[in-house]
This record gives sequence, C-alpha cells and structure tokens, in this order.
Amino acid sequence: MLETESLNQIVNAVKRGERSAREIVRECLDRIDVLDGDLSSFRETYPDEAIAVAEAIDRRIASGEDPGPLAGVPIALKDNIVTDYGRTSCGSLMLESYRSPFTSTAVERLQQAGAIIIGKTNCDEFAMGSSTEHCAFAITRNPWDLSRVPGGSSGGSATAVTSGLCLAALGSDTGGSVRQPAAFCGVVGVKPSYGRVSRYGLVAFGSSLDQIGPITRNVADSAAILQVIAGADRRDSTCADIHVADYQERLDAPISDLRIGVPRQYLGDRNDQEVNRVINDAIGVFRDLGAEIIEIDLPLTEYGVATYYVIAPAEASGNLARFDGVRYGRRAEMNRDDNLHDLYARNRGEGFGPEVRRRIMLGTFVLSAGYYEDYYRRALQARRLIKEEFDSVFEQCHAIIGPTAPSPAFTIGEKQDALSMYLCDVYTAITNIAGHCAISIPAGFAGVDGRQLPVGLHIQCKSFDEETMFRIARLFEANTDHHLQRPPTAFSPTAS
Ligand code: GLN
Repeated sequence: MLETESLNQIVNAVKRGERSAREIVRECLDRIDVLDGDLSSFRETYPDEAIAVAEAIDRRIASGEDPGPLAGVPIALKDNIVTDYGRTSCGSLMLESYRSPFTSTAVERLQQAGAIIIGKTNCDEFAMGSSTEHCAFAITRNPWDLSRVPGGSSGGSATAVTSGLCLAALGSDTGGSVRQPAAFCGVVGVKPSYGRVSRYGLVAFGSSLDQIGPITRNVADSAAILQVIAGADRRDSTCADIHVADYQERLDAPISDLRIGVPRQYLGDRNDQEVNRVINDAIGVFRDLGAEIIEIDLPLTEYGVATYYVIAPAEASGNLARFDGVRYGRRAEMNRDDNLHDLYARNRGEGFGPEVRRRIMLGTFVLSAGYYEDYYRRALQARRLIKEEFDSVFEQCHAIIGPTAPSPAFTIGEKQDALSMYLCDVYTAITNIAGHCAISIPAGFAGVDGRQLPVGLHIQCKSFDEETMFRIARLFEANTDHHLQRPPTAFSPTAS
C-alpha cells in the first residue's frame, strides 16, 4: 500500500507494531523490482543495509524504545548526496565508482530519526539540467507518460516518490531541481530558504544557491522531513542558526487575513495555455477560501534566467575544478608522450558530459579578465535588485503564487537546444537567486495530446518562513484532491 500511504500512517503503524519496518522495506524493494524497469528512477539500491536498519528499528520497538519521528520511513536520495556506503556518482561518468568516506548531515539526521535509506536516484549530471536527460547512466521516464521527461535535475527522486517506490526522497535545488520535477510528476517538492538545511555532504554545484529539499506525496510529509533535516550544523558555516518552528503542529492552523500575491508577469503568453487555466483555477480556490488575492508587480522576473545562468555556471566552474582525475574522479588511459596538461584534459574531457562541459566553459568565460565586469559583476548587481524586489513584495503579502514551470512535462528529446531547456527555470531559478523558500504542490492537470499531465502550483514565501509556506500549501491541499491522483504506473498487479 506504499503508493497511497502517508508518512504518519507508516510511522504510527510501525510504532504500534502493526507493521514491521522490515516488511515496509521489503515492499519497497519488491515494487522497485517490478516497476523501476520502465521508470529508471534508481541508480542503485541498498537492500542489505536497508533490511538490517529496518530490523534494528523493529528490535528497538519490540524493546519499548522510540526509534524517532521517521521510524520505518523508506527514503531515497538523489545521487549527489553522499553516504558512507554505496556510490555517489552525481549522474556522471566522472564519479561512476566514487565512494564517499562520510555521510551528509541531512542523511545522518534522517537516519537518527529512524528513516531507512533505500537507494540513490538518477539525476542530471552534477544536477545540471531540467529533464534528467543529462544523466550518464539512464533515461528516467515520467510515470504519467513514459514518453515524457520527469523534469530535473532530481527526476529520479520525483518518479520514485510518485510511483510509491519509496515514501519520500531528497533532491537538491539550485535553480528549481526539486520543485520542477515535483511539478512534472504531480508530487510535492520543497526548496528551503538558503541556509535552512546543511549542505555538508551535498556535492556542490552553485554554493550560494544549492539547498537540499524533500519530495513527497503530500505537504505534511514534506513538513515532517524538513523538520528533521533543518537547522544549524557546525560543519556548514552557511547553515543558519535560526529557530526551526514546529511545522507539523501548526500545519492546519488558519492564517488570519491571508493575502496572496499574483505577479502579473507569471500568467502571460510564455506559459502553456493549459498551465494558465489550471493556475487560474488554483487562485480561485484560494479566493473561495476567503484569501485576498492581490495583483503584484515583479518586473525583474525577466532577468532571472539570465542572472542565474551567469552565477550558477560561475560557481560550478570553481566547484568542479576538483574533478580532475587526480584529486577526485575518473582517470583516463594515458599515452606514453602525454604531459600533465594532456592528463587533465583527457580526464575531464572523458569524465564530463556535454552539458557540464558547457557550464564550465560558460562559468570560466564570465569570470575571466575582461568579461568579469560585464557578466559576473552585473549578475551580482542584478541579484541584489532581485532580492530587494522580492523583499518589498513580501511586505505586501504572505505568499507569491504562480506556476512552477511554464509547461507540463515535455517529451524526451524535445528540447535539444540548451536555451529552451534553460527557459524552463524562469519561475524557479529566481527564488534561489533571492534565497527565500518555495514549494511546488499539485495544482491540477493539463490536457496535452489526449493525456492528463500534472501542473505544479509554486508558492514562494519570505526567507525562513517555511511555516507559513507549509500552512498555505496545506490549505490548498486540504481543499482539493489533485495530490491523491496516482499515475497508472504506480499500480501493478504483481506489486499490489
Ligand atoms: N535547471 C537548472 C539548471 O540546469 C537548475 C538545476 C538545479 O536546481 N540543480 O541549472
């Protein structure tokens, strides 16, 4: 029943001894065996470790101990979050067989809370992409239509959760990589405020933008996961020592005089018409619930993608310098007369795929003498203006809503040129530029070529106000049933 259960149902059943953690892990692994052949969500699974952890949890329960708030919850990790067992490949040949000597803080906290790590999920190489097509190992498919992408870069995490191959997953969001795949797959994805969750053990892409975030099937489950992974960490100095509210306890508390801002830039012609229809209906739901809907202006929306695609590659080019086949990464075959330069060029040329190479070139270009002022410095200036624009809007309303992405899931191979892929990030990347928090929740379905495809509602709130973000998301969810719809691939006669 993993495809329909909520986190609290599982935790309660495990704690009461009605279901064993072992049996839940077994069900997960069986479902992966039956269903993941079509989806390719997983890079690898950890059956032995997961069963051993589950048995330890069952023993603790039998002896009257409390194994924690996530007791028995099976969780998958994006392939760029390290664990001290298994491999962490970042979807890249460069790290095909890389084994980390340590475990990330977020994962350590999950384990301490009684969660069980099931495996690692496929992603775009080094989290660069919006479709998971840039993964060196597999093509992950959208559970609603196998000819379409699941979104990216955390596409494997989103498909695994959507299809009930685990209960929750962690992704990483640098410009939308948790929220956009959640939107394309019809599940919930959270980008916490910058500094909310430790980045220790997340392989760095854009260090001033990256955040680990949960992907789940409902808002309460995401709140439960963030509750555990959020909070200061002495191993990451950018992780803020700011109070983590009790997200779950206050989830259903009403917000008085709820004001929701809809930017006039968010529902224009760049969106698929079906997306605009679904989002307008979602706005109607809030209006019917008594929220005041105000039209707001975010003119710098137009500059979000350009700013992001200067800053993110600039930071990536520095972060990826360590993958040279000497300090980290794959070592290529060398010829007898190769020199040191050849060694680096060959290691990096063979280890990195085309999108990563493009980002490194873009990043080193915008940082190079002569171009730095025109590109990188200007992008930093734009970043400050964007941040100020959001700050002033958050003084007028509790949240900004709109679509998570301008279209529903596109078909595999459809977006061949890099720019058309980058434009998918118009509504999400700007959140990372400014640093505040955002969530994507199921808003409804778009009719595309005779199929129903999920559309995500993007709710942005001010920095470190995840509590309000969850409450607004929950209000919508409690009054709609989109999050309860499951794709046909979530069910299989042999797996049920
Ligand atoms: N699609 C964006 C990019 O390619 C965002 C990726 C992410 O959030 N990791 O950079």
